[in-house]
Amino acid sequence: MAGKIDLKGKHVLVIGLARTGIATALFCADHGAIVTATDSRSTGELGESIAKLRAAGVQLELGGHSDSILAGQQLVIPSPGVPGDVALLVKARALKIPVWSEIELAFRFLSGQLIAITGSNGKTTTTSLIEYILRNAGFSTVLAGNIGTPLIAQVAETTDRTIVVAELSSFQLELIDTFRPNIAVFLNLTPDHLDRHKTLTAYGAAKARIFENQTSEDFAILNADDAVSTKYAPSLPQVYWFSRKTNVEQGAFVRDGKIIFRQAGRDDEILDCREIPLPGAHNLENVLAATIATRLAGARPAQIAEAIRSFAGVEHRIEFVAEIQGVRYYNDSKATNVDATLKALEAFPGRIVVILGGKDKDSDYSVLRPTLRDKAILVLLIGAAAKKIEHQIEGSVAIRQAETLEHAFQFAAQTAHAGDIVLLAPACASFDQFQNYEHRGRVFKDLVHQLQRSAEILRNENPKNPPDTERKNAETFGK
Ligand code: ADP
Repeated sequence: MAGKIDLKGKHVLVIGLARTGIATALFCADHGAIVTATDSRSTGELGESIAKLRAAGVQLELGGHSDSILAGQQLVIPSPGVPGDVALLVKARALKIPVWSEIELAFRFLSGQLIAITGSNGKTTTTSLIEYILRNAGFSTVLAGNIGTPLIAQVAETTDRTIVVAELSSFQLELIDTFRPNIAVFLNLTPDHLDRHKTLTAYGAAKARIFENQTSEDFAILNADDAVSTKYAPSLPQVYWFSRKTNVEQGAFVRDGKIIFRQAGRDDEILDCREIPLPGAHNLENVLAATIATRLAGARPAQIAEAIRSFAGVEHRIEFVAEIQGVRYYNDSKATNVDATLKALEAFPGRIVVILGGKDKDSDYSVLRPTLRDKAILVLLIGAAAKKIEHQIEGSVAIRQAETLEHAFQFAAQTAHAGDIVLLAPACASFDQFQNYEHRGRVFKDLVHQLQRSAEILRNENPKNPPDTERKNAETFGK
């Protein structure tokens, strides 16, 4: 791929020792660099990985760093979680030390083709689907980026035949230099992470860097229906559009309920939209984007269709958990911003009891009002943002403050009747009450399964129990 760099003897500073930082520090040490790593957390908080870093010869400054930490450094690699304006990075830039994200470093060592996916929502779903289609079509694939294993930790797995499918965040793209995907997908742009990027323009510009180094040999895929991200269409690479609403000149769209891939005036029918197992119009967009990316990478229409039909979706994304007494429970804990919550609400016909709240990201929840009015019967609020959300959606729907997920779940189970949906789609980050969104999703699923077990026990004890009695049990659950 790009100009490799020789890390041997180079002085590299890694900032932030979560998964990506650890993998980066180990990679650099393994390639002969003289590595220093720092984290504001202390040894005790960082756990076992510290021993591994020490064993690899990484110099550690934990629980803060010394004033002289930048002295002699030739490359600084902050973790995606480190804000771009922290004093250490500002100082590094002033000293003209290159500051790269881990994907820039990884890119210099990758072999094969690279498909990169960014956007505000749908990255993980689309990345997983692209990788799944290509793997099923017989390609040798590596799934990387935000989705589990950092790109830097996958470098050694790649050969000239590999197709790397990587999910990228704005934080990673913000600090690239030569990073150049063969196929770049920009799914959509809606407000998120404004606590860090400050403006939608800055956030969009960071994401659009995915196209920055592409040439006329490369492909850019964008969403024709999203007026915000279309503005970032690049001029050098070959642009392919996807749309649910209109026919596009080149790309993928829907005609007579079927997905069509169009290239050089030729139309290939891929599959009937009704065969897509994932719920919601937003997932149709993800499927359209994945169709283009995989077709351009060499998958045949029939292979694409077959894989889409059997794609099970990704955990915590409008994930069906169980049906209990006619009430269907869905876990969309990954709805960590307002747009994702909107899409989840839109994916159902109505009668939704929805759990919202968590850690606010300077979001505007009032945009949920019309959809809540149409689709929801009750909003249960949890976490630090609960008061703000109540204030912004007041009057559109019945609201109840529940404080914790456990209480919210209890109220939800009491309120919902056969035919209703109970949906966790919080529109907020999870860190006020949970380790992460996965943890929040698992707690929700555990609550559903507990309720399911108690409903089953009751049914087994008295098979003739009328549904109302079962409901009583549901009401008692958790009290
Ligand atoms: P990301 O990796 O970008 O966060 P995910 O695939 O993990 O995307 O989905 C995150 C959330 O956004 C989930 O709640 C999901 O249901 C929703 N979502 C998925 N695809 C889209 C899309 N194309 N547009 C809007 N929301 C989406």
